[in-house]
Amino acid sequence: MNSRAAKPIFSFPFAAMLKNFQPLRVYFVQNRWALVIGLLSLLLVDLLQVIIPLVIKKAIDLLVTQTPETGSLLFRQGGIIVAIALTIAMFRYVWRRLILGHSRKVEQGLRNRMYGHLQTLPLSFFQKTKTGDLMARAINDINAVRMASGMGLVALVDGSVLGIAAIGFMMSIDLKLTLIALIPAPVVVILTKILTRRMSKGFETVQSTFSDLTERVREAFAGIRVIKAHNREAWEYTRVKTEGERYIAENMKLAKTLAVFFPVMTIFTNAGLAIVILLGGRYAISGSITPGDFVAFISYLNLLTWPMMAMGWVTNLLQRGSASMRRINRILEEVPDITDPVPSQGVSDGTLPEESNLKPVEGAIEIRGLSLKYPGQGDDALKNICLKINTSETVAVVGRVGSGKSTLLQVIPRLLDVQEDTVFVDGSDIRKIPLKTLREKIGFVSQEAFLFSDTIRNNVVFGRDGISDQDLKDALRAAGILEEIQGLENGLDTMLGERGTTLSGGQRQRLTIARALVGSFPFLILDDALSMVDTRTEEGILNQILDRRSNKTNLIVSHRVSTIRRADRIVVLDRGERVEEGTHDSLIALGGVYATLYEEQIQEEALEKET
Ligand code: ADP
Ligand code: MG
Repeated sequence: MNSRAAKPIFSFPFAAMLKNFQPLRVYFVQNRWALVIGLLSLLLVDLLQVIIPLVIKKAIDLLVTQTPETGSLLFRQGGIIVAIALTIAMFRYVWRRLILGHSRKVEQGLRNRMYGHLQTLPLSFFQKTKTGDLMARAINDINAVRMASGMGLVALVDGSVLGIAAIGFMMSIDLKLTLIALIPAPVVVILTKILTRRMSKGFETVQSTFSDLTERVREAFAGIRVIKAHNREAWEYTRVKTEGERYIAENMKLAKTLAVFFPVMTIFTNAGLAIVILLGGRYAISGSITPGDFVAFISYLNLLTWPMMAMGWVTNLLQRGSASMRRINRILEEVPDITDPVPSQGVSDGTLPEESNLKPVEGAIEIRGLSLKYPGQGDDALKNICLKINTSETVAVVGRVGSGKSTLLQVIPRLLDVQEDTVFVDGSDIRKIPLKTLREKIGFVSQEAFLFSDTIRNNVVFGRDGISDQDLKDALRAAGILEEIQGLENGLDTMLGERGTTLSGGQRQRLTIARALVGSFPFLILDDALSMVDTRTEEGILNQILDRRSNKTNLIVSHRVSTIRRADRIVVLDRGERVEEGTHDSLIALGGVYATLYEEQIQEEALEKET
């Protein structure tokens, strides 16, 4: 009966299911000794478990046929039971440590692999996939895989071995009795499958409602000023209360499922027991089996409860794990579309040809006829741009919002990919320079000032080697934030983020600039990097930076005239096209796009001064 119920597991879909687990092979190989010893311990425990009923049978039969030695013999049987129990306890500990430890290692390996892989994926991947979803899914999926490769493996091996052994012993006692006693078994298997699935779903819902609740509470306190300012306390309270009620409701649902599970199981396992007592009892009376056999049989039937449930549970664990693995594989198969150049033929030592050829001159950029279109967008974001920037030049890029400034700047460190033969850095096509080499040359500060929940020092040094405290302070000074940091209680070691200090927008921007200054890169690219500080401060900081970097190449986007004025050259973009170029004075004289932008800017700055 048991084997019939277990049949769907071993049919074709099972093979397809297992195939998804293929990437886990490496962990199974790595942990092979732990697994071998763990599984052997598991088998030993199973063996001891099936011996127990034999010891009981012996004891009962001794009682039935009383002799003068019965007392001491019974004592011996008791001793054996105690010894078996102790050994079982010991080896159960061993297999739990080793096999569940293995599943934790699978979890860790998979998480590292996935995270490492995600780091290599292009920005376009993160634009089409919501990061929050990605993380939530990854956590649930990796959990399901851990369960499958730990408890799933145990339930499969333990359930089938113990099940087959117990049924074997039962059959050796009486074949017909065994077959009849097993009639309720398939029901137990199927019910377990249904109930465990419902339980794990319920458990997941409880977890996710709990995280919704925590998030709601966190938000309520983080936004307490806004809530109070708008008199929204009662409204916010209701929102938290609703989440709380949902959490309780989901918990109750789960509790109900759990409450149903064990009583229902007991009914069906006891149905088997009833059959045995009725029928087996008659056999014992008629003498075709001994009273010891009768009791042993009942013990085996009892022992069989877990394998029956394990069979139902294991299909769930493996199915869920397999579905999760399929989703994880899909992410792992996602290829980084911006990749390093492939070494050309004839370069036998595997070094990339352009790496050694990089000219000692540093700081030149050349763009030849660059057009770029975002996927799914109608218009080109950049149209046939040509631009040459020489070493130690400072070039400003100006244009209205959406004119393509950020797009142009992101192309240079290949945050967006371009056609071959369009963008050259220091004389080499950027498509042929290894990404690491290219990005090591460029200090890039984007529009959004992103800081990590870490110390100020770590946020600025950013894992780079060989940066002294003096370098760090110089960079912070040039970014105009050193004094403010030294004013903090913990100075450079102040923690930022959720559990630390919160900085203002302007402070964040200046810290991210310091991050790009501390490496003293040949290229510095600032994309509207000081929009949140006032005009005066921006001017001061830029003067500092440009003085420090007078012999290096700087590419700056800003909407502030005072900033733009310091550039050697101004390039004007309009709807993705390079429309004007020159010095501030020549462009004003031209009376085109730049002149108009300048007018608007002057008025805006006047307004800013007033307020
Ligand atoms: P700017 O920095 O000058 O404000 P951008 O380079 O950000 O301009 O944008 C240029 C154009 O490309 C705009 O029309 C903008 O809508 C579009 N664009 C920018 N980023 C994306 C993106 N990730 N996906 C699709 N379109 C984009
Ligand atoms: Mg921009």
